[in-house]
Amino acid sequence: MTGQKFPRLVEAFDESVDVIVVGYGFAGAVSAIAAHDAGAKVLLLEKMADPGGISVCAGGGLRLSRDRDAAFSYLKATNDGTTPDDVIGAFVDGMFEVEDFVAELVKVNNAEIVRVERPGNYPFPGYDSMYFLEIDKVPGFDRETGYPHARSLRNGTNMMKVLEDNVTARGIEVRFSTAAERLITGPDGEVHGLWVEGVNGPRAICAKRGVILACGGFEANQAMQRQYWQLNPVYSAAFRGNTGDGIRMATDVGAGLWHMWHFHGSYGFRHSDPNFPFAIRMKRLPDWVPEVRETEAVMSWILLDRRGRRFMNEYEPYVQDTGHRALDVMDPSTVQKPNIPCFAVVDEEGRKMYPLGGVVFNDRDVTPYEWSADNLKEVQNGILTKCDTVEDLAETIGCDVAELEESLHRWDKACAAGQDEALGRPPKTMAPIKTPPYYVGEIWPVVSNTQGGPVHDTKQRVLNAYGEPIPRLYEAGEVGSIWGHLYLSGANLSECFIGGRIAGREVASLEDWYLMR
Ligand SMILES: Cc1cc2nc3c(=O)[nH]c(=O)nc-3n(C[C@H](O)[C@H](O)[C@H](O)COP(=O)(O)OP(=O)(O)OC[C@H]3O[C@@H](n4cnc5c(N)ncnc54)[C@H](O)[C@@H]3O)c2cc1C
Repeated sequence: MTGQKFPRLVEAFDESVDVIVVGYGFAGAVSAIAAHDAGAKVLLLEKMADPGGISVCAGGGLRLSRDRDAAFSYLKATNDGTTPDDVIGAFVDGMFEVEDFVAELVKVNNAEIVRVERPGNYPFPGYDSMYFLEIDKVPGFDRETGYPHARSLRNGTNMMKVLEDNVTARGIEVRFSTAAERLITGPDGEVHGLWVEGVNGPRAICAKRGVILACGGFEANQAMQRQYWQLNPVYSAAFRGNTGDGIRMATDVGAGLWHMWHFHGSYGFRHSDPNFPFAIRMKRLPDWVPEVRETEAVMSWILLDRRGRRFMNEYEPYVQDTGHRALDVMDPSTVQKPNIPCFAVVDEEGRKMYPLGGVVFNDRDVTPYEWSADNLKEVQNGILTKCDTVEDLAETIGCDVAELEESLHRWDKACAAGQDEALGRPPKTMAPIKTPPYYVGEIWPVVSNTQGGPVHDTKQRVLNAYGEPIPRLYEAGEVGSIWGHLYLSGANLSECFIGGRIAGREVASLEDWYLMR
């Protein structure tokens, strides 16, 4: 790919629209709807053959709040100085517009909205002002099979269906299998359009009002991850389309970056079939049964490092957000990563409790895999290994038997005492591991979604390295997420809605640069 194939400056365009939106996940769909409703002719580009991005795989809950000040305090604490107050403030203001917006959207197909009460994950002031807004049912649409190319955590498919029906009802042009490659600017750096590569080869498309990047993060770009993260390897949980293209395009025209170190992730298995490209995240009982209170559900497993020792509280407040962080250790004296891979161990009682893994994906080339209820299919296919004795278990892990025996003994003693003094796991979540056979699986870091990317301001304008807006370049969603430290579950999706609406409205309000020449 050379600059000559996609030159920054062009003499003539192949076609023109008012607004180009790159990426057809939630952020792209909302941006396109908002720009269209503000009077712009919109072209929505998607590089994959199907819509949905990572968004369609998600739980589908938009995180909202009942109290502005409480939400602001909570989000300021969870961002720990990584995002300016005015940007957090714009997000919080947007939270209070989302319900009305979604109520308008569902008129297209009579989908049912539910509110799910759920406090924030971390104990900062304001955590109890939060709830989720979800789409519970879409008449005539089956959330499990409605998108054959995708499996979602819960209601992500329902929300996608509502958005897709709105895009279609408005007659917004969508071009699939068409990748945005490079931005086109005027001589002064103002963004005038972009190059795409699709079935008809490269085309230069003029965006008379501007471009919105909504093309996700870099979950599927391990080379980029190596440059920004110590932790490696990290496997994507769901989707191959997000390869950091928006970050590349924006930095090419001068964008500054933020939050590149931060990703929403966890720990999980790799499939024994190398053709299955995604990691499979470990799931706790509350992940399967939302009604179960987080700190009161038994977790069937412990994690052991390569020496056979426990090294983390397996049951952090929000395992799906920070579960990978304790794996991020490099021991300079041995130049090894003792926790990668690490090992999940359950006993016979734990195996029977509930499925250990949950599969989600958006990929038409993947053969769907269903994790078995009793975890026995995974013993047969080699994701888990059955060990009749502690000696077998030590051999499978590759650790010293005495070390492993000591770890199991300490754990069972802590369970009997109801207190994990060593690592602080919540008492009600603890279950002894003492009934053979044992089952063990290799555990790896997993990225659900990245948070880093181009910096933006309250209007979703992409800022350059000096904090100045790059003219006519906007972004929405996780491509340049505002979450820079800890993440509020559901807030990536509300960010798609809030940022997408702002970006769509703002870009549509601009004068046509072509007429202004
Ligand atoms: C299993 C799982 C569960 C999750 N659950 C939740 C949840 O419940 N709540 C929550 O808030 N967050 C959740 N997240 C995170 C959340 O889903 C994402 O952060 C969010 O959906 C990102 O939306 P987006 O529109 O920015 O990106 P995406 O939905 O990923 O869309 C980006 C689109 O851009 C396309 N694209 C990429 N490059 C190009 C290009 N060059 N040209 C054209 N198109 C391009 C991609 O193919 C993709 O379709 C979850 C993530 C995972 C993996």
